[in-house]
Formats: sequence, structure tokens, C-alpha cells
Amino acid sequence: PGADPVGTGVVEVDLDAVASNVAVLAARSGRPVLAVVKADAYGHGLVPVARAAVAGGATWLGVAQLDEALRLREAGVDEPLLCWLLLPDAQLLEAAVRRDVTIGVSDPEHLDALLAAARASGRVADVHVKVDTGLNRNGVRVEDLAPLAARLADAERDGLLAVGGVFSHLAWADAPDHPTVDAQAEAFAEAVDVLRAAGLRPTWRHLANSAATLTRADLHLDLVRPGLAVYGLSPVPDLATSAELGLRPALTLRSRLALTKRVRAGEGVSYGHVWTAPHDTVVGLVPLGYADGLPRAATGHAEVWVGARRAPVVGRICMDQVVVDLGPSAHDRIGDDVVVLGPGDRGEPTAQDWAEAAGTISYEVVARLGARLPRRYV
Ligand code: PLP
Repeated sequence: PGADPVGTGVVEVDLDAVASNVAVLAARSGRPVLAVVKADAYGHGLVPVARAAVAGGATWLGVAQLDEALRLREAGVDEPLLCWLLLPDAQLLEAAVRRDVTIGVSDPEHLDALLAAARASGRVADVHVKVDTGLNRNGVRVEDLAPLAARLADAERDGLLAVGGVFSHLAWADAPDHPTVDAQAEAFAEAVDVLRAAGLRPTWRHLANSAATLTRADLHLDLVRPGLAVYGLSPVPDLATSAELGLRPALTLRSRLALTKRVRAGEGVSYGHVWTAPHDTVVGLVPLGYADGLPRAATGHAEVWVGARRAPVVGRICMDQVVVDLGPSAHDRIGDDVVVLGPGDRGEPTAQDWAEAAGTISYEVVARLGARLPRRYV
């Protein structure tokens, strides 16, 4: 083991990469950037990543949940901050309004709760209306927008809130030519008209997540709202790699070999013996598993980086450990460094590689890296 023991594993996050990615997104779009830092900054760590994104030029931050917003405020992060997934909890909403969190409103009940919070706090709540233009998830349907807009306009006149923005989210942004993207953009323009007809004048219209920021300049509007690309991961892996997009993956998951041993030809390895050694070989044990977020579904397809080479993960991925095939003449030792995933520039597997191995997306790979893994910022 080296001088800097990591326990069983550590998530290392390159904050300069985060800042550089935000700068790239700002330059590519020519727009202010709202960096999405929900879900613990996609597993990278909420507060340090938020600060790095701001250092890179983000002028807004975005989270899904109110407690994420409050955690940023408690850490002294003062930038404009949008939160859009409301359970209309009176106490949390009041705390958020008091701390100048911009609230995404999707429903008349959200508005009721927000008005109560504005009254209780004596503050003017800043609102971005969240419109459902076809994702059919969060957001108010365009056909239901007019009555909500009328109530928002009344509340604005009463000095309870100010509608500063309007936004929506795309269903097929990773397929930039998909016809629903244009249909959603048209529905969004219609929604803006409905708000204007009610007398509202939202300054910030925003629709573009990472994929649209990088592939659909016509959808940049007043602000872009990337998440994945902030972390340096390609939102369009079928079209372009991170490097081709000028992005730097920020996250490396490191561990060490906990054990090495010989297995004989024909012996099965790990639960269910789904892998059998084709010849005598040396296997290594990496002390991380699905409890740390490694997808079990990647069994049979994943690799790690050890001793400057890729070694296949063999046998079922377990809760706390995986077995890797180091090859018959391996000289790897207990304590040797293992990179489970990283930026990929030295040949190590990437979050995208793990995603493909597991039949999922890189978002899920990084966002699920377990809470028991410490984050280290470099
Ligand atoms: N905007 C909203 C409303 C979101 O929910 C998300 C994430 O899912 C994003 C933006 C960022 O998306 P991406 O990570 O694809 O850039």
C-alpha cells in the first residue's frame, strides 16, 4: 500500500475539470450556464462541485430537491439557485424562499404552498414556471397553463412572487434530430406566449440540457441547463466522445487489490460460477461491489485498470467485492492500485464503458456511486 491509504476505495473528483467543462459549455453556447448539481452533483459531491462550477463561470445552479438547495445555502453558496421537484412541504418551502431559492412551479397546489411560504416569510418568491411540453413527467401541461398563469400574474401583482423564468425538459435530447425535439420547442414557444398573454414577462427561458446545449444551438434561448456535460461525460455517446466534445471527465473511482490467488482451469469463480477459468490463471480481488454502486448487471462485460492494463471482471459482481482475471503470469500484489473507472485518457475504463457493460447510461453509473465511498477533491 502507498503512503495515502484509500480504505477500500475513493471517488476522486477533479474540480478543475468541472470548472473547465462549464467554461466550454458557456463558450459553446454563448449563454449563461445553469449547472445542474442535483443528486449530490451526479455522485461527485454537491458543495465542492457547485463551487467549482461557479469558478468555471456558472451563474446559476440547479437542483431537484429543496433540501439540496438548502444544503447549498447552508454551505454559503449564494448564486441564483433553481429547485424544481417539489413536494410542497410548507417548512422546507418557507426556508427556501427565505434563502432566495428560485422555485420551479408545476402545479396549482405547488403554487398554493409557495404563496403560503411567501406570506410566512415576508419575501417575494422567485418563480420559474416548469412547463411539460411533451416529456409527460414534471411540469404543467401547456393546455393547463393559462389558469395557472392567471394566478401567477395575480400573485405577482400582490407582491408575493415574481415570475423570473419559464423552462421545460426534453424527452429525446440525446437524439437531436428526433421530431419530438422540434415539437417540444414549438410547445415551449406556445407556453411562453400563454405567460405573456397573462401579463408575465419571464426573463429566463430555458430548455437545453447537456445534449441540447452541445447539439442544438437553436434551443439555447436565454440560459442553458446542463448536468452530465458539467461532469465531463458525453450526453450523446453514440455521436461523440467526451474528448471530441472538449469535455474532461472529472471522476475517477480508485481502489486497491485486496488479494491475489491462483485458480485452476475449469474452476468456477464467484456466485453461481457464471465464469469458469479457461486455463490456470491468477485472479485479484477488488474490494468494491454493488453496495458501492458498481452495477451488478455489468457482470461478464466490465473491466478495471490494474498494472497499466485492462483486466476483465470475472464472475458475478458481488455486494462488496469483484474478482478480476489478472492472467496466468501476473505479478500484481496486494495493495496495487486499481482504477475501476476514470477519464479514460490512460486507457482505463470510463463511466461510459461501465454503462455499456451494464446496459445503462453513464448518468446512472456515477450517480449511484455509494455513500460509503469517500470523495477526494484534486
Ligand atoms: N434540467 C432538468 C429539469 C433535469 O431534470 C436535468 C437532469 O435530468 C437536467 C436539466 C440536466 O440534464 P443533463 O444531465 O442531461 O444535462
